[in-house]
Amino acid sequence: MKIPFLSSNKSEPAIDPVCGMSVDTSNPPGGAATHEGTVYYFCGPGCRVAFEKDPEGYLSGEKSIEM
Ligand SMILES: [Zn+2]
Repeated sequence: MKIPFLSSNKSEPAIDPVCGMSVDTSNPPGGAATHEGTVYYFCGPGCRVAFEKDPEGYLSGEKSIEM
């Protein structure tokens, strides 16, 4: 069974760099942030705020949020 709302959406999911969840890029619950020319999407505002405070830390894998 397909969900029309989702099947009409062709955008690829993105990975939240903070928590590792997949995020719908067409409607990211936490919004998006651009870092060094790359757009990142977030599962929630908390992840975006954390990323914006220390993008390098999350992208390098030095930081992560315990789930
Ligand atoms: Zn997240």
